[in-house]
Amino acid sequence: MPGPLSGFSMTKYKVIYEPIHAEEENGTHLYTDVYPCNSHRQTETAEDFDDGKSDFTAPDADDMDRNDEDMMVDVEEFEGVDTDATDASRTSHEKSDVDASLRDGKIREAPIIVEAMKALADLQKKLNPPRKTGNGHLDPKINPFVRSRMEGMRCLLNFFTNPRSTTHAHWGASSLQASVALGRGVYCARQLRKLARQFIDDRKILPVNPYGEWNQTMLVDEDLASDINLYLQELGKDITAAKIVKFLARPDVKLKHGITKKISERTARRYLHLLGYRWMTAKKGQYADGHERADVVWYRDNRFLPKMKDLLAREKIWTNDNEQVEGPIPGRRVVKWLHDEAVFYAHDRNKRGWYHKDAAAKPYKKGEGASLMVAELVSADFGWLQSPDGKESARVVMKPGKNKDGYFTSDEIITQAQKAMDICKKYWPEYEHVFIYDNAPTHLKRPEDSLSARRMPKFTPKIGHNWGIEVTKRDAEGKPVYLPNGSPEKIKIQMGDAQFEDGTPQPLYFPEGHPRTGVFKGMATILEERGFGDMSKVLAECKGFKCAPPAIDCCCRRILYNQPDFTHVETILETYCKNQGFQVIFLPKFHCELNFIEQCWGYAKRLYRLNPESSQEAVLERNTIAALNAVPLESMRR
Ligand SMILES: [Zn+2]
Repeated sequence: MPGPLSGFSMTKYKVIYEPIHAEEENGTHLYTDVYPCNSHRQTETAEDFDDGKSDFTAPDADDMDRNDEDMMVDVEEFEGVDTDATDASRTSHEKSDVDASLRDGKIREAPIIVEAMKALADLQKKLNPPRKTGNGHLDPKINPFVRSRMEGMRCLLNFFTNPRSTTHAHWGASSLQASVALGRGVYCARQLRKLARQFIDDRKILPVNPYGEWNQTMLVDEDLASDINLYLQELGKDITAAKIVKFLARPDVKLKHGITKKISERTARRYLHLLGYRWMTAKKGQYADGHERADVVWYRDNRFLPKMKDLLAREKIWTNDNEQVEGPIPGRRVVKWLHDEAVFYAHDRNKRGWYHKDAAAKPYKKGEGASLMVAELVSADFGWLQSPDGKESARVVMKPGKNKDGYFTSDEIITQAQKAMDICKKYWPEYEHVFIYDNAPTHLKRPEDSLSARRMPKFTPKIGHNWGIEVTKRDAEGKPVYLPNGSPEKIKIQMGDAQFEDGTPQPLYFPEGHPRTGVFKGMATILEERGFGDMSKVLAECKGFKCAPPAIDCCCRRILYNQPDFTHVETILETYCKNQGFQVIFLPKFHCELNFIEQCWGYAKRLYRLNPESSQEAVLERNTIAALNAVPLESMRR
């Protein structure tokens, strides 16, 4: 197999052949295409692994399409061959390929290295445009289909131009090396050469999918993918593969996209999968597209991704062969723990359908049989967060019926974090532990007196009035105090101090000695103290706080909102863990790249379903825990 990948910074790629489940529309399986693991890894939600028989860890031999049989070609064969025009390197399958443009000698000819290097530099820039400040990279908004092709091209050009690469200056061998690195075969190598050659010539990226068979992946056509997406949104809940088949057979659609033949339902399901839909149990909520919401994008690009990049450099990476590779930066190793919650049902029979994988989850209603909610932390290095002997664990098990909304409370999340930190400190003190949580409101809870510009009045309240935050009154033990009518008693508290740019505190209430001692200053005064000048003419807030972009200094509320101390209010969980030397990171909304914990749930649920059905809560709990404990560590490293 391939030689050492020296000097080559490889994006992790993986071919993922995933059996979906037995309850699919007509019982056949479908398989995903290749995706770069980093950005578009196709992880399954727990409910997807419904087929107790299918092997979760190993790809089925049957799933390999014919292109992959070609993978067995030895790289040695290509040594010293600068082009792959020799017949020996082409299989009969390739010769019959319909794509006649491949006969164009230029595509096969090796490019000049200097030109390839220039193209590589341009490609890198497209993939990671530098920020204007010169620090870090902007996230280029590239369609996933195009991005996957570009990553493949980058891989090839790197092998070809990097003097430390074993296939340096060998075009055919470099393409094969790239293809093997991507887990694909000769067909892919050829498509990569074609894509790269075209890019070197005119910086165009052809709509060619190197990773799959051309006829099965019309979705590489972004226009078509976007039309299908629109149609699916129109359909809402009632998505079926048959409807996609009909949609693509419509004369207007066929004409617009140059479709000549009817696709099969199997292919339609594959498309659904590629577009992010999963055949699974309803999450009790409708799919809402939040990917492009400005706050989500801002958080992802400015907070989440930079933090993850820092961590990655000090992590141990698990390869597809279950081997460990050290991250490039020396120093204290990082262990990432992913937190997640899952529900196990006694009667594991729910209504199934196609749902987008990022559809928002809502609490489950009661009356669906006994259920058990489990919150776990898991890492690729150690598995579920527990002591090596399994006696101490950060696992929390809850019966949702006991809690009115079926979710863990903020206090329970803190208690669990404490358990987790205790175990980490005791057994793995040499590592830097990082906890990663999703953005559920209980995880993001902030102290009651936290800074927030949301409800602040613009001016100092009139004589005899004040402004504060309304909170539930609590007794000495922290329990809510109730009024005779049964509702919790409310009291007003002062908001905590803000911070000037230099870090000194800025009280929001007038100080001792001021004629209005203890009264809220108002947004105008707060901003004026920060050097914003006369705010009397500036609006308190734009109508409905729907400021028109770029929304920087349109109104008092927006200006304050954008101030660093108002933007970075730590959550209770963050502060709590930070005080003990543990970092907490929150996943951006709608982000799926890190949720390998879902695979662990999926595995556990498949094991769980092997048990006979029972309504007894004790049996449910016993079976659930046995299933969780039986998830092999190797499956968590994928
Ligand atoms: Zn505004």
